[in-house]
Amino acid sequence: MSEHDVDLFVIGAGSGGVRAGRIAAGHGAKVMIAEEYRVGGTCVIRGCVPKKLYVYASRFADEFEEARGFGWTAAEGGAFDFGALKAAKDKEIARLEAAYRSNVEKSGARIVAQRAVVVDPHRVRLADGSEVTARHILVATGATPYLPPAIPGIHLAESSNDIFEWDELPRSLIIVGGGYIAVEFACAFARLGVAVTIVIRRDKVLRGFDEEIRDQLMTALGQAGIRLVTGTDIVSLDGRPGNVSAVLMNGEGLSAERIVYATGRIPHTAGLGLEAAGVELDPLGAIKVDRFSQSSVPSIWAVGDVTNRIALTPVAIREGHAFADTVFGGRTVEVDHVNVASAVFTTPEIGTVGLTEAQARAAGCDVVLFKTSFRPMKATLSGSQLRTFMKLIVDKTSDRVLGVHIMGEGAGEMIQCLAIAVRMGATKRDFDMTMAVHPTAAEELVTMRTPWTPPAA
Ligand code: NDP
Repeated sequence: MSEHDVDLFVIGAGSGGVRAGRIAAGHGAKVMIAEEYRVGGTCVIRGCVPKKLYVYASRFADEFEEARGFGWTAAEGGAFDFGALKAAKDKEIARLEAAYRSNVEKSGARIVAQRAVVVDPHRVRLADGSEVTARHILVATGATPYLPPAIPGIHLAESSNDIFEWDELPRSLIIVGGGYIAVEFACAFARLGVAVTIVIRRDKVLRGFDEEIRDQLMTALGQAGIRLVTGTDIVSLDGRPGNVSAVLMNGEGLSAERIVYATGRIPHTAGLGLEAAGVELDPLGAIKVDRFSQSSVPSIWAVGDVTNRIALTPVAIREGHAFADTVFGGRTVEVDHVNVASAVFTTPEIGTVGLTEAQARAAGCDVVLFKTSFRPMKATLSGSQLRTFMKLIVDKTSDRVLGVHIMGEGAGEMIQCLAIAVRMGATKRDFDMTMAVHPTAAEELVTMRTPWTPPAA
């Protein structure tokens, strides 16, 4: 008989925890997964999936308008019912949650619908007071929205978690922050008829992205009617839900029916008993792990956003899978965190993989740039003003494509495929040798012949 109740106790049934639990169970481990909220985690319940459904909904606003250019009039006078969208979204999320739960159960792992905290390196305590001993503990508790606590009136602010509970849309909305969440919701809600104001403390959104993508997105946000208040912060909030006013650093006021803070997410480690068990955390509260996701306590492991490596669902899934293979599957698997592609579901969409121009230059590369900006074919009849922008960053010495940055329709789909090429070390010559698919926007990626040169001074 084993000296522990289970081989693996997973805290958190999100993307990383569920994958780790299922794979470990498949390797023959006795697995228990604790979840205090809903099975599926942020991505499924209140993140990527419902967000993308809202993004799809928002894009019909443009498409109905654009359809006129192709001879359609049927959509004229149509109305949007947010309640119907919310109900359909809730139904789909419930279906996905049930599928997640049933997949876990089919794997042989057991879910306990309770909060669990770590007591010592081999013991967890459930909310009902019972304790479970485990050979290994995996912490996969994700991250939680961060709202700056010191701002007077911050209780009037909401987070991305709250957005998915809204039964009706506000007429006006202030979004604080310029990261993924802020710009995605701004684009979606503006198209659904909300008067959106973004407040950012810098001059541009999406810090860390290629500068030209940031510039192009700033233009597109303006074209969508989004008001951008830059280089400032909110110092206080006042009012009541439904009528919130904000005071900016220069004393100026803003008001809206709702205010959402999308000011980042912090690892969800508070109150988990980790420090007492000897687990080292970084200054942000993230669990410090090695390349195999092992913490400073050998029996305690962590995957996904709680480790603050790359906060993306597919990364958490890979980390969870690699952990289970390494610890229970008899083969050591390490996750490669280099050249991870990502998409930002603004409209127009952004897809990016590899180095930005600034990163490539900072790394000492002799950089050659290839760029194109064009009105996509559909826009010739639809009348849309949105342009597509593409940029390849090439290392002159090796000819390797170091980075690809795209803004335009289908960028998320394109970048997934390009990530394979970039990961394989494709050169610009490989791109050039690849036959174009015509007529597509993506063909521009293999037909950019002339390096970009700065305009003469
Ligand atoms: P991000 O870290 O992307 O952006 C946070 C934003 O808030 C930045 O603009 C930051 O500004 C600003 N900010 C932070 N603190 C303050 C403050 N005290 N006052 C004012 N502004 C502040 O976080 P998100 O919340 O948007 O997203 C969290 C993570 O979730 C992302 O990093 C991403 O990994 C993941 N995600 C991925 C998506 C996708 O793949 N499509 C979609 C949604 C989320 P500054 O730049 O000045 O620091």
